Amino acid sequence: MAKEELECSFCGRKKPETNLLIAGLDAHICDRCIEQAHGIVLEESKQSDSGDLSAELKLRKPQQIKAFLDEYIIGQSMTKKVMSVAVYNHYKRLLQPITKDDIDIQKSNIIMVGQTGTGKTLVAKTIARMLNVPLAIVDATVLTEAGYVGEDVESILTRLLQAADYNLEKAEKGIVFIDEIDKIARKSDNPSITRDVSGEGVQQALLKLLEGTVVNVPPKGGRKHPDQKFIEVNTENILFIAGGAFDGIERHISKRLNMQAVGYSASVSDNVVDQNNLLQYIIPKDLKDFGLIPEIIGRLPVLTYMDPLDAETLRAILTEPKNAIIKQYQKLFSMDDVDFTITDGALDYIVDKAIEYKLGARGLRSLCEEILTDAMFELPSSNDKKLNVTKTYVEDKLVKTTLKKLKAVS
Ligand code: ADP
Repeated sequence: MAKEELECSFCGRKKPETNLLIAGLDAHICDRCIEQAHGIVLEESKQSDSGDLSAELKLRKPQQIKAFLDEYIIGQSMTKKVMSVAVYNHYKRLLQPITKDDIDIQKSNIIMVGQTGTGKTLVAKTIARMLNVPLAIVDATVLTEAGYVGEDVESILTRLLQAADYNLEKAEKGIVFIDEIDKIARKSDNPSITRDVSGEGVQQALLKLLEGTVVNVPPKGGRKHPDQKFIEVNTENILFIAGGAFDGIERHISKRLNMQAVGYSASVSDNVVDQNNLLQYIIPKDLKDFGLIPEIIGRLPVLTYMDPLDAETLRAILTEPKNAIIKQYQKLFSMDDVDFTITDGALDYIVDKAIEYKLGARGLRSLCEEILTDAMFELPSSNDKKLNVTKTYVEDKLVKTTLKKLKAVS
């Protein structure tokens, strides 16, 4: 075909009538048709996004959900199992046909108790990623009762709307992770604090959100724009996951276990109580003794705990998850054609330091950053294409002052 006769195989426009004509194997497409086709693709993907949950669920039974979590989260088998079932049931609930049998599956909002840095946020993030639903992570400490300085609880839903790109339908099936829920515990049991600084008030305000209601949400958040239009968000199908360290809750657990041991000799005393991980015995009553109001506990019916991270777990976190820290560095270096390896001795040393300086899993990343910054600065412009990090190399980079500095910021 002579050049002037080229035309778009879709709309038939001649080349001079187009801005751009792209050649394929046996056909051509013009810029206008590309734009139109792109529009169709967007439209289609929007439809399938909001679409068939039941197909999703068929693919993901609790065991598959757990298998997915296993790829990203080390250990925490109890939480992963409990979460898999809760998430599965939550989405089953969304699919329940309207029947006349009066059996109404209730929401399985979840509360996770565990020290900071044990993976609570990671669990929520991984579930949201798997389900491809929007996730809002909010910190309970900034929430206050309406009228006080701080954020109203409705701001939680503003975040969720933002995470869903203001797609209301998506937001209403999203996940909200409320971190540091323990910080809004009622403190009046504590004799040193005479006034409850709005903890209980925030809990009360959260109640209606958790159970499912229609809330008027300021789409841009804040109280500064009194005339902004509100969006009505129904929280009925939003999955709430709360997390908190609940420092000191072990005391309540231990006290209860001791009392049980005295009162009913058959209960715990027959089994040996693992004093290093008392959280595993947690029951809702312990949350109440800690200062959560019973109504809140009732609306977070799935209670689970995180195991503390021991050396073995920390070691695995460095190398095993799908996006493990070491794998990420390997990828970064490989983009500069640098072959990055690290010895077992070096990994063990990093873990030892993370434990010694109480840096937890979050500290692993900062430690690696300290160790590798020099190499990441120098190697891209050097001819050296090999980096083998040994224990000596690590010792050399991690001087005491660095470790102290890391401890100070963690
Ligand atoms: P939390 O919410 O309990 O304070 P995070 O989920 O924020 O803890 O964990 C901090 C970081 O530590 C995560 O981003 C992750 O890299 C790592 N981490 C913590 N626990 C685990 C785990 N069990 N498996 C894999 N990585 C973990």
